[in-house]
Amino acid sequence: MSIVVKIEEKLYQNRYIVDESRPHIRIRSEAECKTCTSQACTVCCPAACYSKNEAGTVTLVTDGCLECGTCRVICQDKENIQWDYPRGGYGISYKFG
Ligand code: SF4
Ligand code: SF4
Repeated sequence: MSIVVKIEEKLYQNRYIVDESRPHIRIRSEAECKTCTSQACTVCCPAACYSKNEAGTVTLVTDGCLECGTCRVICQDKENIQWDYPRGGYGISYKFG
């Protein structure tokens, strides 16, 4: 018998230590996001860190970031994402490796 586990339940198993004073990913220019026709980061991030806001630009909250790098790749044309790993001791701990 196989057990089906939803992605949300798997993500819930992860643990994060948020570096409040130094977000490891930043959007360089909100204005650039406003002119971005795809706003692909809002649909490609597996942790839903990016969301469209009422101003027509994009809001980023890195608290649940999986450090997968997808957003950095997806925004390569515009180079509008400044991406680093969190400082030592911060970020995600994967329960299942
Ligand atoms: S893909 Fe890049 S430029 Fe486009 S909305 Fe996302 S962060 Fe902004
Ligand atoms: S690194 Fe991955 S999980 Fe983190 S914000 Fe970018 S796409 Fe989302």
